[in-house]
Amino acid sequence: MDTSDVIAIWAASGAAAISIAGVVVGAITIASARKSAREALQSARVSADEAKRSADQAEEAKRIMLDQRHDELRPKEAMDMTFSVRGNPRDGTTNLWGQFTTTRDYRVRAEAHTGNSRSQLSVDLLLRAGACDVMIEMWPEGRERSNTKFVVLKFWPPEDVDETEHWNCRCGRGVHYGDGTGPGHWEVRVPVDYQELIDGPELIRQIRNRPRR
Ligand SMILES: [Zn+2]
Repeated sequence: MDTSDVIAIWAASGAAAISIAGVVVGAITIASARKSAREALQSARVSADEAKRSADQAEEAKRIMLDQRHDELRPKEAMDMTFSVRGNPRDGTTNLWGQFTTTRDYRVRAEAHTGNSRSQLSVDLLLRAGACDVMIEMWPEGRERSNTKFVVLKFWPPEDVDETEHWNCRCGRGVHYGDGTGPGHWEVRVPVDYQELIDGPELIRQIRNRPRR
């Protein structure tokens, strides 16, 4: 082995050492790059989760606000319907009437429900704020108790074509009257159990006259 051989061996082993070091450094670099990529991904996931959470919270807050507004616009006063039997001077008939009030203008549809059947009652399509009288059923001579079990009042905000102040509810429920047969934007169900008061002696006579079984 001459000097040049020794130099060659040294050079070769040096190169090998350098290249092993290179592999080691490379491996460390890859490992640390992987680690920081993993951390970056994790922190990206965390901030995406946070962004989603705050978007969800904003959506939830908006939902609550719109639902509160929906409840504020509900015609609650209509629940306090009062009933009376009155003669109609125009046609001489006697009818059961319901009276209710609203504090703003609505589109409205009223229905009387009797057991399995229902009938549409006559009210203005655009109901003006204030008191409304609605004829619920005929009241022939001798009737003591109403046939109607409950009245359903369906309400919607006014439509663009209605001549009134326009307002709307943006809660997402349907705001168009359509043909009126679909669900109302708000619905009020008022139980009806109207009875004519019969004076004492007459009531006793009726009970006595009832055939015995
Ligand atoms: Zn609404």
